[in-house]
Amino acid sequence: MYDVIIIGSGPSGLTAAIYATRANLKTLVIAGTKWGGQLQLTTDIENFPGFPEGIQGPELMSRIRQQAERFGAEIVESDFTSGDFSARPFKVTAGGKEYVGKSMIIATGANARWLGVKGEQEKIGHGVSVCAPCDGFFFKNKNIIVAGGGDSAMEEAMVLTGFASQVIIVHRREELRASEIMQKKVRENPKIKLMLNSEIVEILGEAKVTGVKIKDTKTNQILDMPIDGIFVAIGHTPNSKIFKGIEVDEEGYIKVFEHSKTNIDGVFVSGDVHDKRYQQAITAAGFGAQAALETELWLESSE
Ligand code: NAP
Repeated sequence: MYDVIIIGSGPSGLTAAIYATRANLKTLVIAGTKWGGQLQLTTDIENFPGFPEGIQGPELMSRIRQQAERFGAEIVESDFTSGDFSARPFKVTAGGKEYVGKSMIIATGANARWLGVKGEQEKIGHGVSVCAPCDGFFFKNKNIIVAGGGDSAMEEAMVLTGFASQVIIVHRREELRASEIMQKKVRENPKIKLMLNSEIVEILGEAKVTGVKIKDTKTNQILDMPIDGIFVAIGHTPNSKIFKGIEVDEEGYIKVFEHSKTNIDGVFVSGDVHDKRYQQAITAAGFGAQAALETELWLESSE
């Protein structure tokens, strides 16, 4: 019987594990077969406090994991398959085994959506990114594309104008989805150009991005365009579908009722699976600490 079972092993889940174990809670982390979350796909991280020279995403995750293990967190590298949250103690299954916990923290994160075009996956971290605040710095005086037409794409483009010489927003339709105010900001920025009715169909380059093939969605004409980087901002998908009985909002983000609490007593949530606003490693870690502190209080009051 664990005091707390944490599902997810990104910065949020593992920070929750550090706080939980230091509070003397018997803690299990169901880390997934690909443990470590989105930071495992990132290269240099320069905005995580404590690393003035920057740190590689996988290196940061491995350090956070070591810290959690040092205080006694048990980590299983299996995927969560099912959970029964209808009665306490909660039962969860991962890797064919059942685990029982008095409380739960869901920290399964969100996955950035990718374009799914040729040349994209292998160039993540080599010119393809999903995070302007993290990677914008590496594109000083370069020409960049932002793919997407929503508020995230507008925001990414604005952030990137702080570094790049030109930012081109490539959107597949005539109308942007973004709010009027964000559209206005973008249209008034001399460094940003809009390329509407356009779809990236391939990302070019060997070791790093050198260009894209872009299709005009009206004429179907395809042209090659040289470019130094591509920021994909076409939304995120929270990893919440696997949980039965946990309330989510209309976009699938887990609803927080008060202080990291979900609709089920004893089940807490932290990180990007409930946070669509910040989606940063440091905020996810902060939410992890918060969820663990709330879990500790809840266990004290329920025992
Ligand atoms: P979103 O509003 O769902 O927009 C996604 C955009 O990506 C849409 O323009 C969509 O095109 C495009 N897209 C989706 N799949 C695509 C594909 N396979 N290929 C090319 N384009 C694709 O997502 P979001 O921009 O991440 O925003 C999510 C939520 O957070 C929204 O509610 C937004 O208002 C909010 N948000 C707010 C702020 C802010 O207020 N500062 C900042 C960021 C996000 P279509 O338009 O053709 O569907």
